[in-house]
Amino acid sequence: MKKKILVLHTGGTIGMHATDRGYNTAKNHLIKLMANLTELNSDAMPDYDVIEYEPLIDSANMTPTTWNKIAEDIQSYYQKYAAFVILHGTDTMAYSASALSFMLENLAKPIIFTGAQLPLEAVRTDARENLINTFYLASHHEFNEVGLFFHDVLFRGNRTKKTSSVRYDAFNSPNFSALAKIETDIRWNKHLLLSPPIEGFQIRKIKKINIATIRLFPGIFPDYVDKMCSDDLAALIVGTYGVGNAPTEDKALMQAFKRAENRGVMLVNSTQCPHGTVNMQTYAVGNELANLGFVSSFDMTMEAVIGKLYYLFSCDLKIDEIKQQFQMNLRGELTR
Ligand code: ASP
Repeated sequence: MKKKILVLHTGGTIGMHATDRGYNTAKNHLIKLMANLTELNSDAMPDYDVIEYEPLIDSANMTPTTWNKIAEDIQSYYQKYAAFVILHGTDTMAYSASALSFMLENLAKPIIFTGAQLPLEAVRTDARENLINTFYLASHHEFNEVGLFFHDVLFRGNRTKKTSSVRYDAFNSPNFSALAKIETDIRWNKHLLLSPPIEGFQIRKIKKINIATIRLFPGIFPDYVDKMCSDDLAALIVGTYGVGNAPTEDKALMQAFKRAENRGVMLVNSTQCPHGTVNMQTYAVGNELANLGFVSSFDMTMEAVIGKLYYLFSCDLKIDEIKQQFQMNLRGELTR
């Protein structure tokens, strides 16, 4: 029997229409083009239904409110469909795939995010290949996690980053191998897939939480840290150098971090290097951050760090538990 999958169309280039103001979302446009795509409707492909979001958005406008809607839709239709495909703009797809990987607890079905660099209506589009391969993977293979498919590669969603604004291979997973690669055969890295869950599926919605990021650079002005750390700030993610180093000779900056920590802001050390991990024990200039109370993000992407913080602060945990769980591997998002 043919499997049935549910497509949640949130927006993004994949379904956009060219206008004189540039590409823009267009109601019903993608659904009509998909209906005419022979391969999607072949016998080797699953049956599919589409829920088109209203309004469709450019993913630059993505917010946790839409993440909550995606999670609710997956929960509502969880029993009815074998797998879920989320059509999404590429700009924030890695953030959404990361956040949803945490919000969908004890997931036992394939969820795949995909999109395109050029709309399906364009002659040289990559949308066609991405759609066909995503539908095929979602219906012919069993896995229990949130993936992101782009340009012949299925990645673990919470390991991805958009690394090119123009190339067809727009995504990368700098610290983790691909789950599968499309060649004439499909080459799986089966040993990397998450094990099936023991408990039942449930969702965790994101609450209203304030987090902020700051990226270190030579000559950074310490006053910004105080200005950013208002009383309702839950966490400050600091983009550090190398293995998690900071200009510790700048005492004003260190004191500003200390004041933030004293106010109850969770300080997160996240390296600016896309590849590699944070290790605050390597250098004295990292050690000082550990002593100030900074928590390591290890080799998590910034996108995963943000999704995980939103999730953990929505879980009714004490701050010590949040810090502890943040440094644990919950969904394959970090290597320790
Ligand atoms: N701005 C678009 C979006 O993220 C880019 C894309 O989809 O490729 O919605």
